[in-house]
Amino acid sequence: MTPDYTTLLLAIGLSGFCLSATLFASWMSARVERFLLSWSLGIGCIVPAVIVYSLYIEAPGFRLGCLAFMLQFLGFAFIYGAAYRFRTGLRGRRRVFLVFTASSAVALPWLAAGYDGIAFILLNLLIAAALAATASEYWRGRAEAPLPLTGIVILYLLTALSFILCAAALIHDGRAVLGHAPQNWAETLNLVVAIVGITGIGAMSLALNQWRVAASHQRAANTDALTGLLNRRALFDRYGEQAMSDQTAAIAFDLDAFKSVNDRYGHAAGDAVLKVFAGVVRDACGHAACMARLDGEEFVVVLDRTLPDRAHRIAERIRADFAAKLIPAGGRSITCTVSAGIAFGSAEGASFDCLLSNADNALYLSKRNGRNCVSLAA
Ligand code: GH3
Ligand code: MG
Ligand code: MG
Repeated sequence: MTPDYTTLLLAIGLSGFCLSATLFASWMSARVERFLLSWSLGIGCIVPAVIVYSLYIEAPGFRLGCLAFMLQFLGFAFIYGAAYRFRTGLRGRRRVFLVFTASSAVALPWLAAGYDGIAFILLNLLIAAALAATASEYWRGRAEAPLPLTGIVILYLLTALSFILCAAALIHDGRAVLGHAPQNWAETLNLVVAIVGITGIGAMSLALNQWRVAASHQRAANTDALTGLLNRRALFDRYGEQAMSDQTAAIAFDLDAFKSVNDRYGHAAGDAVLKVFAGVVRDACGHAACMARLDGEEFVVVLDRTLPDRAHRIAERIRADFAAKLIPAGGRSITCTVSAGIAFGSAEGASFDCLLSNADNALYLSKRNGRNCVSLAA
């Protein structure tokens, strides 16, 4: 064995250990991202696999070989599981177990039978397959963060390729029985690629984790906690600086006599009414609109590229659906109504503040007209 090879193995062990520890620590600090935990478990198996393998190089034997194989299969199964979990959010324990047992079942009998040459070919091919499956999971989920995910996919594919080359070199050798660990140019290349892969993928996984944490904070900062609609900040971030054309409509809503709902049935009942109203708005608007809770019981829907007819239809549907809802609150059913006001921007482009205040004026017209109705701004 050349010292270069030992050094490379040592480098894999050390970088794997450090990465595993880093990823574990960053999972500890934000326990939302469990794919990191699976990944650090995977690398955490590769580290002892490397140690056992270096012992096997010194003293080849069935037990050490078996252990090295199984640790590697387990490690790559976890790494695949991390990718699956990243894309789907599901645990995928069964998949991890399946990858591990299937790989072991295919390769270990050959090792047991003394055909270590064939066993090593299978080991390399099975690991390449697990890596390709891992790459495919990240590829399917790449829309979330195209740049780091494409980088991760490329690194997994390169690592898979280096395992395929190891298998190819052994096949080319054509020996079913080796009696020792394979040593050829492909093995050395494989170690170099593995070091680059492990560190590169580790760094990008951390970046990906930050990306997700930042995105979830951003979502929380823009969402109204009670109703799940956008909040005032998000609405103004989106439209505050825009010129509102005459095809953009704002519909302002204010629940009627809402204070008396609170007074009569309690604050929790009031909250339930607000949630039901948000549901009615969602059902009526779908994804086509920007829906926000401005304050207390005041809501706004902004519709782009809309004609007055459609805006009126949507507002009217929300009003009617909400009035018809029986809302369970403290053992009884209560009803509530809403008033609405519609305004449009102008051909020259009105400010968003101006659009909202016009919608508000129309809303107060509805209040003056006896509530539970929709008015259009003059
Ligand atoms: P109007 O028909 O004129 O709109 O009368 P109103 O009672 O709806 O109007 P008012 O502005 O007097 O009352 C609004 C009430 O909304 C007062 C406040 O206690 C209640 N409110 C504001 N935010 C919340 C909330 O998050 N939950 C609950 N349950 N009530 C809230
Ligand atoms: Mg109000
Ligand atoms: Mg009100």
